[in-house]
Amino acid sequence: MALPQDKTPLLSLPIEQLPGEGYRRGQLATWLYVKGARQWEEMTDLPKALRAEWAAQYRISEFAQVAPYPSQDGSVKYLFTLLDGQKTEAVYMPYLNRKTICISSMVGCPAGCTFCATGRMGFGRNLTAAEILDQILFAAHHQGHAPREIRNVVLMGMGEPLLNVENVFAALKRMLHPQGLAMSPRRITLSTVGIPRGIYKMAESELEVRLALSLHAPDDETRQQIIPTAHRYRITEIMEAVRHYYTQTKRRITLEYTMLKGVNDHEWQARALAGLFKGISAHMNLIPWNPWEGAPHQGSPKAQILRFAAILEQQGIPTSVRWSRGRDVGAACGQLALKQPDQPQAQLSRL
Ligand code: SAH
Ligand code: SF4
Repeated sequence: MALPQDKTPLLSLPIEQLPGEGYRRGQLATWLYVKGARQWEEMTDLPKALRAEWAAQYRISEFAQVAPYPSQDGSVKYLFTLLDGQKTEAVYMPYLNRKTICISSMVGCPAGCTFCATGRMGFGRNLTAAEILDQILFAAHHQGHAPREIRNVVLMGMGEPLLNVENVFAALKRMLHPQGLAMSPRRITLSTVGIPRGIYKMAESELEVRLALSLHAPDDETRQQIIPTAHRYRITEIMEAVRHYYTQTKRRITLEYTMLKGVNDHEWQARALAGLFKGISAHMNLIPWNPWEGAPHQGSPKAQILRFAAILEQQGIPTSVRWSRGRDVGAACGQLALKQPDQPQAQLSRL
């Protein structure tokens, strides 16, 4: 029998191309995306011989091992070992009746942002559509939920989703498909460091998911200091793409802004930010910086964050401060770096 890594990942296939004919294919889709089966043996209404035939060719799970790290605040970080030994992470957040998962699109990230632990790691590789989707399916299963009970997905884990557009869009299609996870596009947010060609692709795509833009500075000089790849993507170019996206979709844009002491938290920067978004409906999330070992930054003091927020509000940009969860297990925004805080709850190997 073939090794798992030599088999075709079922989750990489569009629902219409799953094996089997009409009725059987529908049953398989239901097992994967509605019931969250992770073993062929669970699929009891499929003939045994058919299951054996498929099991020889196709795989269900994308992970060789998974280690869960529960935080005291209820979130759980999952460290996934992929079939080729590379690793990535996701964070499950069960707050306020809104089961949300933050998933990764890459192993590491090539953007190299100075304040982000993932950026420090460098780039491993792009995740496949199957690996992106299976983070959701695995977390649901481990939490004892049917996959569709996880109603909110944010692509804010490791990696830059708009530098892995093909796989990310393929995964999004399965999240939205009525026979897939049947999610509402309004409950899926893709966060980008600002890749103009990717933002144009989002504007043209029929996926209709939400866009979050990590701007972090209203001026190119500051931006290039903290986002080394930003010299390739100037703010005017990003804003042109964002304006196009907004004109096409009329969807409100979320802005993300990690507050770094003495770098991007000056009052003039708040005013300049507001100027950039004249005529575009945007909501600002100010993110207090989450520390990690060896980082060359300090977070802005709380009083400065609140002052910055007040100026943005005054200038007409609705603003929230997003205090992160999961700091104790390295699960907060920008802390994902495959660092193992303590012993995991258990190493799970039958996946
Ligand atoms: N690559 C994408 C998505 C992943 S990062 C992007 O950059 O948007 C998700 C968010 O976490 C981004 O807004 C990023 O700026 C923020 N972030 C990164 N490191 C952080 C840290 N140490 N503290 C707080 N937020 C951080
Ligand atoms: Fe990559 Fe986003 Fe981290 Fe920057 S903030 S290094 S783009 S994951």
